[in-house]
Amino acid sequence: MKLLFATSNQNKAKEIAALLPDSFELLTLNDIDITEDIPETSDTLEGNAKQKSEYIRTNFQLDCFADDTGLEIPVLNNEPGVKSARYAGAQRDSEDNMQLVLSRLKGKSDRSARFRTVISLEFYGEQHLFEGIVNGTIRTEKSGTAGFGYDPIFEPENCGKTFGEMTMKEKNSYSHRARAFEKMIAFLNNRNE
Ligand code: IMP
Repeated sequence: MKLLFATSNQNKAKEIAALLPDSFELLTLNDIDITEDIPETSDTLEGNAKQKSEYIRTNFQLDCFADDTGLEIPVLNNEPGVKSARYAGAQRDSEDNMQLVLSRLKGKSDRSARFRTVISLEFYGEQHLFEGIVNGTIRTEKSGTAGFGYDPIFEPENCGKTFGEMTMKEKNSYSHRARAFEKMIAFLNNRNE
């Protein structure tokens, strides 16, 4: 089965491709020459994931799935949350975003955080949502250079290193995106039986 991932983010696409069973083939927007920016104007992760998958279904008549992810930090009122990409400004710069999180957490004893991914799947005229969460903490400084986004400052619970210090395979064994994606694959496998 061909699965279209409504993203042009190659970091996300690589993580998802590594989790895909052999019976599926992953395509991204680049593979089918869709280069336009898909609107993401909702104030929730669910809303943005739905908006992206609906956009592709409505404008291109294609089944697909889209994800939206946020880093939620309770002591910052669950920010950056849905604003994770542009937390420090419209330049959407990961380094600036991480520095802003680190400075807002300075002196705070509660450094708990979680990544949450919502996937919206368009499948034969129906929409299905899948959620994946990983709990952890924010380090006081960056560690590691792997991954993307906030990976160098986020340490999943019970693991002693940040996502930025992990191989993609290791990150996938804990990650929010992998957890949501595995739920979607289980759903698709069930429907195909
Ligand atoms: P998006 O809207 O789902 O593309 O994600 C919003 C922002 O969250 C991205 O620009 C990244 O900065 C961050 N982000 C998303 N997924 C991850 C991840 O797996 N690790 C670290 N940061 C992430």
